Amino acid sequence: MASSYFADITVFDGARVRAHQGVLVDRDRIVWTGPHARAPRDARAAREVGGPGRALTPGLIDCHVHLCFDGRADFAAEAAGLTPALGAIKGTVNARKHLANGVTTVRDLGGIGIIELAGAIEAGVVPGPRVTPAGSALTITGGHGHSIGIARQVDGADAIRRAVREEIRAGALAIKLIATGGVLTPGIGATFTAFTPEELTAAIEEAHSWDRGVAAHAIGAEGILQAVLAGVDTVEHCVQVTPRIAKEMAARGTFRGPTISALMGIAGNEGKAPAYAVAKAQALVEEAKAGHVRSIRAGVRHICSTDAGTPFNPHGNAPNEVIAMIDWGMEPLAAMVAATANGAEALRIPDVGRIAPGMRADLVLYDADPVEDPTSLREARAVWKDGARVRI
Ligand SMILES: [Zn+2]
Repeated sequence: MASSYFADITVFDGARVRAHQGVLVDRDRIVWTGPHARAPRDARAAREVGGPGRALTPGLIDCHVHLCFDGRADFAAEAAGLTPALGAIKGTVNARKHLANGVTTVRDLGGIGIIELAGAIEAGVVPGPRVTPAGSALTITGGHGHSIGIARQVDGADAIRRAVREEIRAGALAIKLIATGGVLTPGIGATFTAFTPEELTAAIEEAHSWDRGVAAHAIGAEGILQAVLAGVDTVEHCVQVTPRIAKEMAARGTFRGPTISALMGIAGNEGKAPAYAVAKAQALVEEAKAGHVRSIRAGVRHICSTDAGTPFNPHGNAPNEVIAMIDWGMEPLAAMVAATANGAEALRIPDVGRIAPGMRADLVLYDADPVEDPTSLREARAVWKDGARVRI
C-alpha cells in the first residue's frame, strides 16, 4: 500500500494507551502518530483504514517458539522423525498461525530447517512473522534436549565458544543455552544444573561480541543464578526465583520469559502428554506461580515466551501467554509491554515493538483495548507486517 491512515482509534504504542489517536503509514513504515484531531494533511490524502476493530497495537513478539514442532502430545515421537526439510515444511505451516494471531516477530529457540525458513520468509517466498533463529540449542553431553534433534552437545569453555561461532556462521541470529535440566527429557531432573559458570561466560561473551542475544533455558535456582551472573539476556521458564535472583535480574535488566503456556500445556494434560513430563511439570506449577509474583514485585522485566510447539502449546499462542501472565499476577499494561517493546529489545530489533514514527508498520487491530480487556487479544481483526495486510 502506498499510504494509509488509521483514524480516531485507541492506540497501545508499546508503553501506554491513548484514545482518539491517528496513525499514518507510508509503505512499510509508520510515519506519523498523534491525536486524530491534529492529523497532518498527508493523512487526509491517505487511504483510511476502515473495517472492524477499535484498538491498534504493535504486532506481538513471541520470544520463544519451536517452529519445527506442532504441539503434539508426544514430543519425543515427533522429534524422532524430524529432518531439516520436514522441519522447514512444518515451520512454514506453523509460521502462518503466528501471523493469524497477531504475532509478527518470533524467536526460534532450537530447531532444524528454521534458519532456512527465516531466510525464505525474509525474502518473501512464504508468509510468516520475522524469525530470529537460534539454530541448534547448546546443551551439555546428555543434557536436556540432547535426544530431540534440536540441540547439540558441547562441553568445556573452548568448545562452547566454537559452537557459538559455528551456529552464527550457519545463520543463527540468537544463541540458546540449556543451563539446566528440563521437563521434556526423560532421565534428567528439571532443576539439574548443567553448564559451569565458565562455559556460560564463554558462550555469552562470544555471542555478544557478534551482537547476538542469548537465551538461557533455566528452571532450577542454581542454573538461573549462574546464567544471570554470566550476563544472559533472557531466562526462559525461570521457575525457581529466589530473592537473590529477583534482585540480580531486576538490577541487570535481565528479561524473564515465564513460558506458562508450556508448563500448563503439559501439567494440565495428564493421561495425554507423556507421564514422566506431566509429573515433572506438575511438581513445578506452584514454584512457577511464586516465582512469577516474586519477579514482578522485584521489578524484573518480562517478555512473552510461549515455547510454542511443546505439547498442547500451539503456534500463535502468544495471546494466551499474555493472558496467563496477567492471571498469575501481572498488570495488563506490563504484560502488553512484555509482548511488544520488551520483546523487541530482547531480540535486538530496534524498529519493531512500538507504534512511533520510523518503526516498521507491524500492527494489529482488535475490537477492544487489550489493556482494558485482554481477552480481545484472542481475536485479531486485522494484521499488518511491514505495512502489508496479512491474509488471516
Ligand atoms: Zn523451548
